[in-house]
Amino acid sequence: MEGFSLAKNIQEVRQRIRISAMKNGRNLEDVKLIAVSKTVDAEMIKLALKENILDFGENKVQEMTKKADILTESVNWHFIGRLQTNKVKYLIGNVGLIHSLDRYELAQEIQRKSEQVDSVTNVLVQVNVAEEKTKAGVLCEQVSEFVREISLFKNIKINGLMTIAPYTDNAEELRPYFRKLYKIHIDIKQKSIDNISMKYLSMGMSNDFHVAIEEGANMVRVGTAIFGERDYSQR
Ligand SMILES: *Cc1c(COP(=O)(O)O)cnc(C)c1O
Repeated sequence: MEGFSLAKNIQEVRQRIRISAMKNGRNLEDVKLIAVSKTVDAEMIKLALKENILDFGENKVQEMTKKADILTESVNWHFIGRLQTNKVKYLIGNVGLIHSLDRYELAQEIQRKSEQVDSVTNVLVQVNVAEEKTKAGVLCEQVSEFVREISLFKNIKINGLMTIAPYTDNAEELRPYFRKLYKIHIDIKQKSIDNISMKYLSMGMSNDFHVAIEEGANMVRVGTAIFGERDYSQR
């Protein structure tokens, strides 16, 4: 942790977002920054709130709800991990956006639990853009049909698409994948399907968000570049 400065990291990330956004004619404000706070404690989240970070991403339901209980500040939580149907009930009413809707049964459960408390749950459809066997997500050619199916659920509101790009040291290699999802995003937007919005395209993490933004991402999920390397033993 030597030399670690949260404020400086956030400033640098914002500057990089600004530069990439400008490359395709947008501003810093056009790209929503989600600080991925998995493994990071509530005290650190408080410090990030002071730097005007309002959105936090978590990939474990219990970890998210635990931190939400500790914090007195109101936080906009993003659930970005693989979601088991039996955990949905803990998220409903506590989460701003679920990024990882990847299957019909999960939508059925989100619908059921949302209806019970008379709320509408915001989701993104997760797309497995590189068709990796180990990754969750709807395949590219199925996204449009899947979105139509989910649009029929009254208590679910699709807000856009999300992807986790393949792991690589060279972010440039990911450009075609980001471009492909941007195109799908635009195609669906142009269909003007009832009860859905294509407001957000969530793609890009610490190592690749600059490329993702250049290719049209307007929501990035950044952990390491803000909070430093994660220590999973502390979780
Ligand atoms: C951990 C995680 C991130 C952030 O990764 P970094 O490389 O630390 O920026 C983004 N998205 C998802 C889905 C994650 O699980």
